[in-house]
Amino acid sequence: MLIYTHENPVVVANVQNLLTMAGIEVLLKNQFASGGVGELAAVDAWPELWLVNERQAEKAQQIIANAKRQGQREDWFCPHCKEQNGAAFEVCWQCETPFPE
Ligand SMILES: [Zn+2]
Repeated sequence: MLIYTHENPVVVANVQNLLTMAGIEVLLKNQFASGGVGELAAVDAWPELWLVNERQAEKAQQIIANAKRQGQREDWFCPHCKEQNGAAFEVCWQCETPFPE
């Protein structure tokens, strides 16, 4: 089953590493897709991670959710005081409002 896809191959490779380190077997498809996708919609050319063992789907999805929350975050703006916070901050450094989900 398809477990993860993203337009950026680096992000997909990162998730693949995380899953592999957790003992989850995945296959990478569309690895060499690039421009010139012809009649395919652009999304069809994104690199895809496919889960080999579907019984590991729940664990894999947890790992991916964590990675999204932690690894790929960029600087964020506090919804309360509009302060800009660095990616590493879990709460606003100024008013301590938590990072918005
Ligand atoms: Zn704030």
